[in-house]
Amino acid sequence: MRDFTWTGQPSRVVFGEGTLARLPAEMDRLGLKRALVLATPPQETTARELAATLGDRVAGVFAGAVMHTPVEVTDRAMAVVRDLGADGTIALGGGSTIGLGKAIALRTDLPQIAVPTTYAGSEMTDILGETVGEAKRTQRTPKVLPEVVIYDVALTLSLPPALSATSGLNAMAHAVEALYAPDTNPVVALMAEEAIRALARGLPRVVAAPGGMPGRRDALYGAWLCGTVLGMVAMSLHHKLCHVLGGSFGLPHAETHAVVLPHAAAYNAAHAPDAMARVARALGVEDAPRGLHDLAARIGSPLALRDLGLKESELDRAAEIASRDPYANPRPIEREGIRALLQDAWAGLTPRRSPLPG
Ligand code: NAD
Repeated sequence: MRDFTWTGQPSRVVFGEGTLARLPAEMDRLGLKRALVLATPPQETTARELAATLGDRVAGVFAGAVMHTPVEVTDRAMAVVRDLGADGTIALGGGSTIGLGKAIALRTDLPQIAVPTTYAGSEMTDILGETVGEAKRTQRTPKVLPEVVIYDVALTLSLPPALSATSGLNAMAHAVEALYAPDTNPVVALMAEEAIRALARGLPRVVAAPGGMPGRRDALYGAWLCGTVLGMVAMSLHHKLCHVLGGSFGLPHAETHAVVLPHAAAYNAAHAPDAMARVARALGVEDAPRGLHDLAARIGSPLALRDLGLKESELDRAAEIASRDPYANPRPIEREGIRALLQDAWAGLTPRRSPLPG
């Protein structure tokens, strides 16, 4: 075992079915009397229904959250926070809504209760990515970590199967990268392997029967673990590639993560044998990258970047940007290797075996 450093994240997690009923008690613990409920426009009705159950403990609802936390949306939400004299936020939704709660906390230090309804995992991290026009700036600060996270499996039943599949694989990618992170540790590895196992067990059942509670429970449990490890260690190649494909080519977040995952794993496989052994064990397969690809195919997740709108003529530029700035990764970032990875991911091929080190 390597030497390691462990930094625990101070957050409280309530997990189960029907746990939304515990929200008033959790608000009391934090002393919240005039909370602002946050949501995306499609989840406004659910947010208003929640607000109605909380009566005058809720100051209002802001249902303007969108992907990638644009600062102009945060500015509008901040005006509402001030006008209503809100004393905390309740973010009901996926990473977009939770991102808005974090952006408000960054500016005000108001306490946050996150109620996640996707598998993205943002609620467990001290990371906030905000966009100003085209530019994205990401920071890590304990100020944005939600004080309380309420995972209610019942709230995930409405997540459509296709979104469940891509959101789940997006989460799983964080666990795979956590296993070979430069700052990983034995406890993170335990959680990451368990996360992959739980998602691999849950997602096929979720897709086959989206209203089935056991599959949903496994998937959300796995998502919690994935978010936890994302908040504890640095991400590598997979994360960087997806950042480039999303930021410079406008590809959709969760789908891109899902497509790239088996190929990023294959690129690193020979340089991270212990991590790959854990991934394979969690998936119950011989070969980790192949197992990740097969799981994606089985749950109907997209397999090719070309189906997400990337043009083949853009692959050279994507490889160029992705190999420009060095960062920690088990296998050195080699432009030709990245270009080959992107070609395979673009075409939706099964991942190729990476060359042995040395
Ligand atoms: P999202 O929050 O945008 O949700 C996707 C869509 O699904 C939205 O329209 C939403 O209203 C809808 N939805 C959510 N839950 C639903 C449910 N249960 N039933 C029906 N519809 C539902 O997407 P996401 O993938 O959860 O989050 C992506 C965002 O989160 C990105 O901006 C990403 O950068 C960010 N993120 C941040 C971190 C972090 O640590 N800072 C981690 C992961 C993701």
